Amino acid sequence: MADAYDFDLFTIGAGSGGVRASRVAAAHGARVAVAEEYRVGGTCVIRGCVPKKMLVYGAHFAEDLVDAEHFGWTIGEKSFDWVKLRDHVQNDVTRLEGLYGQTLSNHDVTVFNERAVITGDHQITLASGKVVTAAHILIATGARPFVPQFPGSEHVITSNEAFHLDALPRRILIAGGGYIANEFAGIFNEFGCKVTIANRSDTILRSYDASVRDRLLQISMVKGIAFLFHAEFESIEKQDDGTLLVKLTGQDPCEYDAVMVATGRVPNVEGLGLETIGVDIGQRGEIVVDAFSRTNVPYVYAVGDVTDRVQLTPVAIREGQAFADSVFGNCEPYAVDHSCVPSAVFSHPPIAAVGMTEGEARNQLGNVKVYQADFRPMKNVVAGRNERSLYKMVVDAANDRIVGIHMIGPEAPEIMQAAAIAVKAGLTKADFDATVAIHPTMAEELVLFK
Ligand code: NDP
Repeated sequence: MADAYDFDLFTIGAGSGGVRASRVAAAHGARVAVAEEYRVGGTCVIRGCVPKKMLVYGAHFAEDLVDAEHFGWTIGEKSFDWVKLRDHVQNDVTRLEGLYGQTLSNHDVTVFNERAVITGDHQITLASGKVVTAAHILIATGARPFVPQFPGSEHVITSNEAFHLDALPRRILIAGGGYIANEFAGIFNEFGCKVTIANRSDTILRSYDASVRDRLLQISMVKGIAFLFHAEFESIEKQDDGTLLVKLTGQDPCEYDAVMVATGRVPNVEGLGLETIGVDIGQRGEIVVDAFSRTNVPYVYAVGDVTDRVQLTPVAIREGQAFADSVFGNCEPYAVDHSCVPSAVFSHPPIAAVGMTEGEARNQLGNVKVYQADFRPMKNVVAGRNERSLYKMVVDAANDRIVGIHMIGPEAPEIMQAAAIAVKAGLTKADFDATVAIHPTMAEELVLFK
């Protein structure tokens, strides 16, 4: 490729999308550099999916240890050491960060551990003052938590800080009703914190099927999580003893030890020099790209959360892969298929979904058949835990094709990954019926719908 430039590809941001794109481009023979101002690995590895899932595992022991007694085990005195778990999680995050760095160096990708700014056509200036040029630039800078501004908003934390707390708060208010709010509510609640969720509407997890999110709401409340709806911040006042006095619309002022906001994430586009070369920014602050992750500037591409298409790690990875193959591989350019993306919420219990909700299917297809299994998993029965799972299958009545599956219950995300293949492949309810159940499992409900 054009030796007129220092690099064939310069990637800004070494998160999931940036790392994949960089190493694949390098494997295709491109001379690649990547700049990362924080830690290699990005949100998912450093302060998102990975450490969150470890906390979810840690949190679930609270219930497992109680349930174990119903299975005959005598459990001695129990205690939980937050600092121990926090540090173990952070140690593993550091290990993974090292592996990501190694992957890049194994592929001869030059890593600049500093901020990079576009300062001219094909030109990037690093924080150290070094100026380099590149034939292609990939923006993979991700997103950051959106923090609403109001008097006292400087006292809130976000999920970024939640992983590093010195101690667990006795009472925590979590603002938002989406993924992060529900996942962290479950985590903190299992650790013994008194958790309150405050949401601006009366709907949690808006994009999920109504029956499944209602079930999560009901189970969460039984577990002790409080919900405040139509509640938005008016103010937070830090009191002399360090506690936070929070005023929310329609609510009496209430004291908390910590307030966390989980009200969505905004693309990281500021201070990158995008305006210098005229890269288009959309209404939500995202970099506007086409199906091939191309911006309006011919040599500039963007993948992952900064494009605000589907804010999920595996999607960013695919976008990075498709970009690298399309630009540097010897193949026809190809686009990522953003349809039928399965997803999960690692709440207690978790939710998993693929395809259309019942409401969406009724609106789009008209005539749909809905099959539902509402059951108490065997393990919960023996444990005396009155917590029911719900599986729902949505079928296009015109052709028997499954257009959506929605689940809440233990291991739902693990089960969904396989079921999603069937939905993506366009299989029918009859195909599921023809498959023999594995008994006794929870997943067998998927092939036993009547
Ligand atoms: P979500 O989009 O899931 O939820 C945001 C919540 O905040 C919604 O309840 C929303 O309400 C509310 N909200 C939005 N704007 C405001 C505002 N200005 N004031 C008050 N409330 C507001 O965002 P999260 O922050 O939870 O997560 C960000 C993204 O990260 C997710 O969308 C997801 O793509 C990804 N993620 C994925 C995970 C997974 O795969 N398991 C885990 C964590 C994050 P309303 O519904 O009314 O808009």
